[in-house]
Amino acid sequence: MSEAALSDPGPVQNAMDAPMFEAAAFSLSEQEVELCALARDLGQSKFAGRAELWDKDAVFPTDNYADLKDAGLLGICIPEKYGGLGAGFRAYCLTAAEMGRYCGSTALTWNMHVCSSLWTGLLADDLAMSEAQRAEHERRRAIHYGRIVREGAVYSQPFSEGSAAAAGFQPFSTAATRVDGGYRVDGKKIFASLAGHADYYGVLCTLQHEGREPSMRDTAYLAVPATADGIQVVGDWDPVGMRGTVSRTLLFDGVFVDEDAELMPQGVYFLAASSWPHMFLTLSPTYLGIAQAAYDFTITYLRGEMPGTPPVKRRMYPTKQIAVAEMRIKLENAKSLWFQAVSEACCKPSADQVMRAYATNYTVMETANDLCRLAIRTCGGQSMFKSLPLERLYRDSRCGALMLPWTAELCMDRIGRSALYHPGETDD
Ligand SMILES: Cc1cc2nc3c(=O)[nH]c(=O)nc-3n(C[C@H](O)[C@H](O)[C@H](O)COP(=O)(O)OP(=O)(O)OC[C@H]3O[C@@H](n4cnc5c(N)ncnc54)[C@H](O)[C@@H]3O)c2cc1C
Repeated sequence: MSEAALSDPGPVQNAMDAPMFEAAAFSLSEQEVELCALARDLGQSKFAGRAELWDKDAVFPTDNYADLKDAGLLGICIPEKYGGLGAGFRAYCLTAAEMGRYCGSTALTWNMHVCSSLWTGLLADDLAMSEAQRAEHERRRAIHYGRIVREGAVYSQPFSEGSAAAAGFQPFSTAATRVDGGYRVDGKKIFASLAGHADYYGVLCTLQHEGREPSMRDTAYLAVPATADGIQVVGDWDPVGMRGTVSRTLLFDGVFVDEDAELMPQGVYFLAASSWPHMFLTLSPTYLGIAQAAYDFTITYLRGEMPGTPPVKRRMYPTKQIAVAEMRIKLENAKSLWFQAVSEACCKPSADQVMRAYATNYTVMETANDLCRLAIRTCGGQSMFKSLPLERLYRDSRCGALMLPWTAELCMDRIGRSALYHPGETDD
């Protein structure tokens, strides 16, 4: 190879990436195909190039949110009658997976935002409510959806507190106390992605009742305006991966919110969390996208077609071919299982479906990191430079298995128990 060829990075590849899920093979709806193409287009043309910026200094991807707003994607799961795109659960997951290929921090924080529309939208529609509750919910969600659709408001979802609450084993310590015209919120949330950047924090807290022990059934879901008095964003944010999520700590000290801050009527969040477990799968699309990106990177790199690197082919070595085959098999396994799980997501799924959802989350989170590991080992030292996305993918991928309530450990724990014990069964 000549000197000139070694130093010439070659032509930049501008062809549109292939979809993660072939429309015909997976019988995707027209809406799913269109949303995935939109996410891929935005991701490839804008988010991929900026991802390094957010990662380098751990700053929030504000520019990407302007693009998400312009594309209507902030309202992806808001029903059409409220001005949103009306995407269903699977359509959202497919779109988020495509986005995850290009910027993990954007896809993950976008997920926190979209969750507020999912809980209040298609999940709430599946749940039993009294007529009065339903009417009030309709009125209130119209307010929240209007802010998102018309004003581009961004909602976050801080629930972690560093206790067993985020794992779903005890009530949240953050307290909501009834006061004239609304609630007073006091408490602390850690790992609050979008801290200092969201317009509303969708806080899970426990409604206090005099003379009654705090209970998970009394979980309140309140949209606290980021500008309310008594809120502080504190602490550093300098983690190994997902650095653009800016998941700093939020402190709430006597914060007043009015009654319309309630995102779901009393008791309905608890019902939704227990009836719609697939909701906790919504962190997985980001990481499935990262797994796809690690695989795609490896193919491009070994073919000597990686923009910004010399056109050196490495594909002719049998060890590389075997490693790529191993990666493809892992990716196909993860994608097939994931597609089945997000396709069958529903209210009150069977025990088998729930175990499959745990298995899916575990598989996606672990596979993403495994594929990034294999990609680095297979591509070699030059693939790890910060000028290329692989080392960021590797660091971002490490975070998936740690996300509560379905960490990799807790998924294993839940599968083992569900397999060996019928509901309510003990060894006593
Ligand atoms: C990049 C990033 C972004 C995040 N964004 C958000 C966000 O927007 N909102 C939000 O609410 N949270 C967010 N989180 C927090 C995340 O969901 C977890 O709450 C957090 O990672 C838990 O860390 P910890 O050290 O407090 O875990 P710990 O609670 O100390 O748990 C450590 C490990 O022990 C295991 N474990 C925990 N509880 C139990 C139990 N009861 N039984 C058995 N095993 C258990 C789990 O496997 C867990 O990984 C984010 C985390 C990261 C890394």
